[in-house]
Amino acid sequence: MSGLALQNVTKEFGSFTAVKNVDLAVPHGTFVCLLGPSGCGKTTLMRMIAGLDLPTGGAIRLDGADITRVPTHKRDLGMVFQSLALFPHLTVGENIAYSLRIRGVAKEDQVKRVNELLAMIHLSGYADRPVSKLSGGQRQRVAIARALAISPKLFLLDEPLSALDAKLREAMQVELRQLQQRLGITTIVVTHDQREAMTMADTVVVMNSGEIRQAAPPVEIYRRPADTFVADFIGMTNLIDFAAEGAGRASVLGTSVEGLAIPEGLGQGVLSVRPEDVHLTAPGHGAITGKVTFVRDLGGTIETFLEAGGKQVVAVSMPNARPDVSVGQEVGIRLSPDACVVLKS
Ligand code: ATP
Repeated sequence: MSGLALQNVTKEFGSFTAVKNVDLAVPHGTFVCLLGPSGCGKTTLMRMIAGLDLPTGGAIRLDGADITRVPTHKRDLGMVFQSLALFPHLTVGENIAYSLRIRGVAKEDQVKRVNELLAMIHLSGYADRPVSKLSGGQRQRVAIARALAISPKLFLLDEPLSALDAKLREAMQVELRQLQQRLGITTIVVTHDQREAMTMADTVVVMNSGEIRQAAPPVEIYRRPADTFVADFIGMTNLIDFAAEGAGRASVLGTSVEGLAIPEGLGQGVLSVRPEDVHLTAPGHGAITGKVTFVRDLGGTIETFLEAGGKQVVAVSMPNARPDVSVGQEVGIRLSPDACVVLKS
């Protein structure tokens, strides 16, 4: 396969396993985000891909070749890591040309490449500016251009946007994705920000405790989470216990609900239901009974918090479908069966 392949990659630090038996295929030209809570092993996995750490088990292949033990500088990588800041005493152009200069590229070719890269990151004319006179977003774009100067096979970024304020960060996510698509470069980004991962990635890899819990396109991760960890980690969800009653029926929050895709033999489990798939109706007529405990109007959406069968359930509505409810009111709750993801407890 052309691209990157991780085969059973493991990293132990003494008796602690930071990355466990990771298998992952990153086809050429795709964008992958490694996502997960702090300490889940994202950076450790990235450092092994970069050649900064050696796995204690498994293999890493790039375009079919085993690179597990190949040193970083021979891996044909572009890297934007927090620890690899720009050289503060050099200009923008000198920073971008750095890896070209140490590879002995002719001066006029360096200038040509720097100008191409500056145009690509929308900073044409900035070559002679000291990096100390750039904004945070401009600096980050220069770091990206510097990493891309040698046209690497693999582009690795570890929390590249975490130092930027929220607005700039969102704009940079779009820019980074568009740039990657234009160049068709195989890219892996570490982030703990799920919105960032959903914005940029072809494949989101959700990790926890050193293991991959799910690797799938963003919408599939959101709509079809593989387990309760992924369901809860990505976006808002309601995790509701059920007890199967046979033929797609189950007891949910004290009411019998039909049309659920419950696998044969699963007696009980958890439904993951996104708040936008929770609908409020009049009480009775087979609906789950709930009581409104809090209503939060966020402008773009309205969140209604309910208590049902001793549990909290959240429903989200758009302003044009604002539920006509008030705190303390008894309401009916309907869950779209197609939108209920059946998971093991
Ligand atoms: P964060 O989002 O906080 O950066 P992460 O998912 O990138 O977290 P890692 O930095 O990969 O997590 O760390 C995974 C686990 O491995 C952590 O428990 C960390 O303490 C441990 N770890 C990382 N490097 C070492 C090391 N050199 N020696 C011992 N333990 C380490």
